[in-house]
Amino acid sequence: MKLVPKKMLAMLGGGQLGRYFVMAAHKMGYKVTVLDPDPESPAGRIADIHLNYAYDNKEALDKIIQTCEAVSTEFENIPAESLDYLNKKIQVHPNANAVKIVQNRIREKTFLRENAIPVGLFYVIQSIEDFNEISQECFPGILKIAEFGYDGKGQKRVDDIEGALKAFAEFNHKPCVLEKQIQLDKEVSVILARSVDGEIKTHPVAENIHVNGILDITIAPANIDHLTKKNVTDLAKMIALKLNYIGVMAVEFFISGKQIFVNEIAPRPHNSGHYTIDACYSSQFDQQVRALVEMPLGNPDQHSNAIMINLLGDVWEEPKLHEPNWESILKEPNLNLHLYGKEHPRKARKMGHITFVTNETLTHDHVLHLQNIKKRL
Ligand code: ADP
Ligand code: MG
Repeated sequence: MKLVPKKMLAMLGGGQLGRYFVMAAHKMGYKVTVLDPDPESPAGRIADIHLNYAYDNKEALDKIIQTCEAVSTEFENIPAESLDYLNKKIQVHPNANAVKIVQNRIREKTFLRENAIPVGLFYVIQSIEDFNEISQECFPGILKIAEFGYDGKGQKRVDDIEGALKAFAEFNHKPCVLEKQIQLDKEVSVILARSVDGEIKTHPVAENIHVNGILDITIAPANIDHLTKKNVTDLAKMIALKLNYIGVMAVEFFISGKQIFVNEIAPRPHNSGHYTIDACYSSQFDQQVRALVEMPLGNPDQHSNAIMINLLGDVWEEPKLHEPNWESILKEPNLNLHLYGKEHPRKARKMGHITFVTNETLTHDHVLHLQNIKKRL
């Protein structure tokens, strides 16, 4: 159902992605209830109502049903049962089944393979016996826990079967996938929105640089050829169709020589889409609100070129605990500072980001300049 401004929307998850959803909803005059067990969650702090409960708390879910018109998520580890429960009474986008598939690497990769979407060589590991099937071709590889991993957590690089067995034991024999390590030329991502009418709009392809398994830099538009852009965009759209997806979805890709592989799917806006806040006519969060309230989507195109650099807690901690020198960012023309309102910086914790926006063509010098600013914070 089309929902007009002033209606109350619900967001499951109160991290920075949820915070930007709240901001986008507020911009359009909607109200937001955030469910997050963390009393200091970035989105909870600015929501109209913060329900401070676990994601499967019946009372909290009932409260959402009574007071909200529609619900979305910013976090793939929301129990799919909670989405199912809510969906019986109110509008839920994306659907529980799509979230259920992509929140588990075994289901996600199997779904991709079954739909003939290119994915790197992988094996499902559920018990020690599964190691009998593995071919030598899969090494060096990466063992990844099937559920609840993020930002490179729950992953281990392994060189051979013995190493993989050891890592599996370290993960307490929890279900895993073993992936062949792909020789990466580039990583890119596609963020799309699909409306209830089936219209799909994609933001320009973003190029991503990871450090220690965590996104460090996004460059948009990606410096890849036109055909590759078209191919990754078409694959992302195909995935959205197969998942019957409504809402905002991100697909991460590996590019290796002439080959393209899907790495993973996120049932929500994505860190690599933060550039859209400052550089696109409609941001990924604007699109998430529009899709949720079943209204037409906005224009996803860029009005500016952009480079986004993440600020992790490390910036506060190195070389010793200090308040970063924000002035050095704020004095730079074309540089926007984003902080998520988190009280406690920790190593590898996403605290904020900076986005450089320009009408100049992006060069490596721009990237170096921003990296230097970050280094001196
Ligand atoms: P997360 O859920 O933490 O984002 P990913 O599976 O996307 O986990 O892995 C994080 C990063 O680690 C990737 O963006 C990529 O840089 C690297 N990586 C993961 N899997 C592979 C692989 N099979 N081959 C090469 N690099 C990989
Ligand atoms: Mg990833």
